[in-house]
Amino acid sequence: MSDNKGVLVYGEIIEGKLSGTTAELLGCGRKLASDLGQELSAVLAGSGVSSVAQEAIAAGADKVYVVDDAQLKDYQTGSYVAVMEKVAKQVMPQIILLGQNSVGRDLAPRLAFRLGTAAVLDCIALAIDAGSKRLQQTKPVYGGNAQAIYTTDTDPQVVTVRAKVMEPLAPDISRKGDVVNIDAGLDASAIKTKVLEKVKEEVRGVKLEDATVVVSGGRGIGGPEGFAQLRELADLFKGAVGASRPACDNEWIPDTQQVGLTGKIVTPELYIAIGISGASQHIAGCSSAKMMVAINKDPEANIFREAQYGVVGDWKKVLPAFTKKVKELLTG
Ligand SMILES: Cc1cc2nc3c(=O)[nH]c(=O)nc-3n(C[C@H](O)[C@H](O)[C@H](O)COP(=O)(O)OP(=O)(O)OC[C@H]3O[C@@H](n4cnc5c(N)ncnc54)[C@H](O)[C@@H]3O)c2cc1C
Repeated sequence: MSDNKGVLVYGEIIEGKLSGTTAELLGCGRKLASDLGQELSAVLAGSGVSSVAQEAIAAGADKVYVVDDAQLKDYQTGSYVAVMEKVAKQVMPQIILLGQNSVGRDLAPRLAFRLGTAAVLDCIALAIDAGSKRLQQTKPVYGGNAQAIYTTDTDPQVVTVRAKVMEPLAPDISRKGDVVNIDAGLDASAIKTKVLEKVKEEVRGVKLEDATVVVSGGRGIGGPEGFAQLRELADLFKGAVGASRPACDNEWIPDTQQVGLTGKIVTPELYIAIGISGASQHIAGCSSAKMMVAINKDPEANIFREAQYGVVGDWKKVLPAFTKKVKELLTG
C-alpha cells in the first residue's frame, strides 16, 4: 500500500480558457475523489495561466497547482514531462487523469515511466473498486469490439480518458479552493525542441470531435462530389462530415476528417455511416456514438451489426429522400 493520496487532473488551457476535456476530467475526478474520501486537484502548466485557476476550482478542483513559466508557453514533451514529474513527486497523487488527445497520449506513458508506474490509455469508464479501492479502468479493445477492465498495482495510476464520455460539473463560481504555485525549475539546456510555427486547422462549422451529429462517407461514396451531399445533411444538423480511410486516402475529403483507429475518435449523439463497410479499424473511432444509422447497398455489410438503424440501398437514391425528410422534420 503506497502513501499516495488524491486525484490529480492534468489541466489543458486552450486560448486562455480551461479546455472542455479538462472540465470533463474534473467532473469524473470529483466522483472518484469522493468515493476515495480524498482530494481532487488540478495542475495548470503554461505561461500566464494563473488566471485560469479559478475556472478549475469552479469545475470541481479542491486545489490547483499552478506552474507558470515563460518556458512553458508552448507544449513541448521534454519540458512538460519534467514539470509533471516534479508536481507528481511533490503531490503524490493516487490517480492522475489526462485527456486522450495528442498531449495526453504523449505525456501519460512518459510520465508513468518516470514515476515507475503504468499508464492505461483511452479509458471510457472509471470506477473505484469498493473492496480494494483501486481504480477500475475500462477501455475498448480489439478495435472497439470488446471492452477490458484494467487495474494498476502501482501508484500513481495514470490514465487517459476519451473525450465526451465523462460529464463535466455545472461550473460553480462560488466554489472555494486553494491555489499553490510551484516553480517549474526547468533547466533550459534540457529542452531539446523548439516550436517554430503553429498551423491552425481551418474548420468549416463545428469540429469533428465536438460535433453532436457526424455524417461519414466511405469508399462507397465514389468520389469528392458525393461528399457535398453529405455536407448538406450534416449542415442541417449543425454537424460535421467524417470519412473512412479510403475516402481520405483518395483525397475526396481532407485527412483531418478521418474517423477510426488511425484517425479521430468521435463520440456524437448520432453517427450516420454512408457507403462504409464497418471495418473494425473504422468502428474503433465511432463505437462510442450514442446512435448509429447506416446506409449501405450490401445487406451483409458489418456496419449493420454496429448500427441501431440501417437502410439497405444505393446511397445515391436513399440520401436525397433522407435529407429531404430531415429538412421537413427540422423546419416543421
Ligand atoms: C493499421 C490500420 C489502420 C486503419 N485505420 C483506419 C481508420 O482510422 N479509419 C478507417 O476508416 N479505416 C482504417 N483502416 C482501413 C480499414 O481496415 C478499412 O479498409 C476501411 O475502413 C474501409 O473503408 P470503407 O468502409 O470506406 O471501404 P470498403 O470496405 O471498401 O467499403 C465500402 C462500402 O460501401 C458500400 N457501397 C458501395 N457502393 C455503395 C452505394 N452506391 N451505396 C451504398 N453503399 C455502397 C459497399 O457495400 C461497402 O460496404 C485501417 C487499416 C489498418 C490496417
